[in-house]
Amino acid sequence: MTIEAPSKVAEFDVVVIGAGISGLGAATYFSRELPHKSLVVLEGRDNIGGTWDLFRYPGIRSDSDLHTFGYEFKPWRHESAIADAHLIREYLQETVEENNLAHLIKFGHRVVRSDWSSADSKWTLTVEKTDPVTGSTATKTIRTGWVFAATGYYRYDEGFSPEFPGRDDFAGPVVHPQHWPEDLEYRGKKVVIIGSGATAVTMVPAMLTGPGAADHVTMLQRTPTYIMPVPRVDRLAVALTKLLGTERGYAVTRFKNIWIERGVVKGLRMFPHAGRTLIRCANIKRLPDGVDVDKHFNPPYHPWDQRLCAAPDGDFFDAIEDGSASVVTDSIVRFSKRGIVLGSGEELDADIIVTATGLNLQLFGGMPIVVDGQHVDLADSFCYRGMLLSGIPNWAIAIGYTTSSWTLKVSLMCRYFIDLVRHMDTHGYDRVVPVPPPGMDRRPVMDLQSGYAKRAAKTLPKQGSVAPWRMAMSYQEDAKALRGPVADESLEFGAGGSPSRRPAKAEPANV
Ligand SMILES: Cc1cc2nc3c(=O)[nH]c(=O)nc-3n(C[C@H](O)[C@H](O)[C@H](O)COP(=O)(O)OP(=O)(O)OC[C@H]3O[C@@H](n4cnc5c(N)ncnc54)[C@H](O)[C@@H]3O)c2cc1C
Repeated sequence: MTIEAPSKVAEFDVVVIGAGISGLGAATYFSRELPHKSLVVLEGRDNIGGTWDLFRYPGIRSDSDLHTFGYEFKPWRHESAIADAHLIREYLQETVEENNLAHLIKFGHRVVRSDWSSADSKWTLTVEKTDPVTGSTATKTIRTGWVFAATGYYRYDEGFSPEFPGRDDFAGPVVHPQHWPEDLEYRGKKVVIIGSGATAVTMVPAMLTGPGAADHVTMLQRTPTYIMPVPRVDRLAVALTKLLGTERGYAVTRFKNIWIERGVVKGLRMFPHAGRTLIRCANIKRLPDGVDVDKHFNPPYHPWDQRLCAAPDGDFFDAIEDGSASVVTDSIVRFSKRGIVLGSGEELDADIIVTATGLNLQLFGGMPIVVDGQHVDLADSFCYRGMLLSGIPNWAIAIGYTTSSWTLKVSLMCRYFIDLVRHMDTHGYDRVVPVPPPGMDRRPVMDLQSGYAKRAAKTLPKQGSVAPWRMAMSYQEDAKALRGPVADESLEFGAGGSPSRRPAKAEPANV
């Protein structure tokens, strides 16, 4: 490892960390709207795409429609609204080319620590730079006025794998979807997938398709999930595109889907029993006789307390109907040489076991954040307008929605970020930090009951009970909050070493 001389310290106005769908969106907005600001995108991996490049399991696709998951500024042109990962990667590559982002992205640049100094209103980022050819690493220092952290929400190096007793006794491979071996052969094999989330629901039909198809796939779940058949192709979107052209057809479809999605989530949360009945009826319609719907498709929680899984054109149900897939709801006692011993005493035969048991939540790639020499405990900070953090100046975090397309929030956040930077320039400020009111209620930042959200709740920032400290989790609410006055009494501004000040009342953008 070599340490570069201080003379080589690069300095930027804005550093975007992460070249996933959020970071690339942010880089596009910032380079268009803040052309006078120096900008760089630091990406720890060798490719763009984040999630859509990392995961390589069979069938990897979105659950969301790409009309809302895609960017506001770039129409989704494929007929299928739900997209396979390679199409999302293509879309992102086009985004890079169309917006001339390539020169801004530094691959193999992992930020491993961030230090803020109030004396000069700058972040000093410690970056581990990996040579793509030799794999050797060197440490580099980058200084910046702002960090826009588009680092996703989970650990890249390790998926969540609970300890299963007897794991080493199993004779075949045990694989996690986050670390899918490129050469894994499953043709004609018996596969057991542990889990019932979107990944398992995607993999079941995918592993039964094509020349390399498995003989049988069993989804082994402890607790059922809501699974809804949804059309892969949005016929109305296709018609709107034909009628209005690509750009306008996309804009209208996006608008339609934002409202439909919101209506569905709100409706299901307001009338959970009706929602449960509706989903149950849709499941019964698609399942063959003899499948115990109450046991396998009846979660103990209400719809949208956890993410609802989509089955495009009902592919998951088709696989059950033709007998090549099955669902088992039971606990795991241990792995055995030939499969899994269940709580019921049965033994489930398997040649391959897939542990689709989830993610490890983590922010900022786990890097320490230090403000004026003090380590920040993220659990102590509050999220302001869902994107700034108390106690961490000049730092924005790209956290999207969990009950609708994650990325819908990116455009709103970026617009607010741009307004905030312009506002600070106009007033001569070079730092800003949100300050929460004393004694505010502390709530988990993610409003989901999923295992991964619960496991990480203690380590994540908090949200408050009222705006602007509440995570809105809806596009409509955020559109109001993030397009409103850019500064309010919760934001503390400062310049150079001078004392900070808070506006007495809300101030609109660009005053
Ligand atoms: C299998 C799967 C399917 C999903 N499907 C959907 C869906 O259908 N709809 C939906 O809304 N959401 C979905 N999600 C959630 C999904 O992750 C987000 O929607 C979206 O892809 C997140 O994009 P992002 O750019 O914010 O983060 P990511 O895609 O996670 O990208 C973060 C990037 O930051 C880089 N990075 C992180 N830390 C550092 C660091 N310290 N230094 C340098 N670089 C760093 C990473 O290498 C990565 O490239 C899915 C998630 C998974 C795992």
